[in-house]
Amino acid sequence: MNAIKTRQDSDKTVIYNKLKKEVLFLGDDTSLEKPVFAIWEITSKCNLNCVHCSSSDLEGEMTKEECFKVIDKLDDSGIFWVQLSGGEPLLRNDIFEILSYLRKKGIDTEIYTNGTLITKEIAKKLKILDVDNINISLDGLKQSHERIRGRETYEKTVEGIKNCLDENLDAVLTITLMKSCIGDLEKLLEFAIQKGMDKVKIIDLMPVGKGDALYKKEMLNKNEMKNVVKILKKYSDRLLIIPEVPYPLLPTSLIMGTGRISGSC
Ligand code: SF4
Repeated sequence: MNAIKTRQDSDKTVIYNKLKKEVLFLGDDTSLEKPVFAIWEITSKCNLNCVHCSSSDLEGEMTKEECFKVIDKLDDSGIFWVQLSGGEPLLRNDIFEILSYLRKKGIDTEIYTNGTLITKEIAKKLKILDVDNINISLDGLKQSHERIRGRETYEKTVEGIKNCLDENLDAVLTITLMKSCIGDLEKLLEFAIQKGMDKVKIIDLMPVGKGDALYKKEMLNKNEMKNVVKILKKYSDRLLIIPEVPYPLLPTSLIMGTGRISGSC
């Protein structure tokens, strides 16, 4: 018996086809037969303890050799783009070997980081490894950001951004939308322009991990979302605004890795 298609199913199909056509540049041929990119939580460990974190400190991380085997499989399956997330990916002491192995296989790489560990030296290494995007989380100006990410994190993150920009790395300001920070959105976009950044990623708060308990309190209502769209439009000629497609809307065939829905870091 055929499954009954719900309204939600057909909405997902429309979004999926739009994603394939406009984001993955597959033109009118939307017949994507296998995954082309992977989001990989390379570690669950982190040096911060953010109030909205969707990740958790799991036991039993993969060894470097196991990671290499995963990369071989990703390569064999035609994956050409991998986003490394966490936890904080830069906490792995073999992260540069992993990035290097991905590059050796011809796979494009991005990382999601809280930016606090990006010293000048780390930024240089990321440049040598030609990491495409360094997505650095900044949720608000100092007060809002530190309410979420902890004391003395703001300056370290801003320093991490500066170190990336000094190396001509593509540092992408990554903002998680939350009710308590939304008042800073415009100032964050100004900050990005002032620092010479040209891309901003907008991420939804994920109702996963600690984010689950915060979700009702912090998720934006319709009017707040409309206001966000208005602000983003105002800046769209000066910044490339990248709204992250909410993961629940992606078919599971496009999501590889732990299989968990994740919004960190
Ligand atoms: S949200 Fe990111 S930076 Fe914050 S604790 Fe989680 S993994 Fe670490």
